[in-house]
Amino acid sequence: MKEIRIKDWLLKVDVEQTERIYSQLCTFAESCGCLYCRNYTEVAKRFSIELLAFFQSLGIDPTKCAGEIMEFGKLENEMHHYGGWYHFVGEIVDGPDCMVPPENWNKINLIKIDSFTMGFTKEVQLVSSNFPESVVQLEFVSTIPWILQDLP
Ligand SMILES: [Zn+2]
Repeated sequence: MKEIRIKDWLLKVDVEQTERIYSQLCTFAESCGCLYCRNYTEVAKRFSIELLAFFQSLGIDPTKCAGEIMEFGKLENEMHHYGGWYHFVGEIVDGPDCMVPPENWNKINLIKIDSFTMGFTKEVQLVSSNFPESVVQLEFVSTIPWILQDLP
């Protein structure tokens, strides 16, 4: 486990084990196959170097289906509002929980990279059985373009 400091959080992260687990998971496109998941997967393959570096610092492959993504609709600027979460092996040593209580999401110092707004919570949901006990959930909302030929 290595210690990572991000904003107001101090995390313990097992990057190698998280990478190993993600390497065994399928992508959102493979796992669900709906247009929204396929679009997200294609966009995730084209994330900026900065956003990708953030995910990689936690061992996360953002195309892979560990957790959940949801599409919340199209915005006026044609971008699509998505939200969801990823898991990684580790623990929150210090810092706020972005979901507990729920109003924390609007109060705390969240991570902002490109159109992604992110935070960490111990309130984990739908954890893949590949993960051990000690898991943190990276929660996100974002607005991303629609890049599939097929329209929703
Ligand atoms: Zn889907």
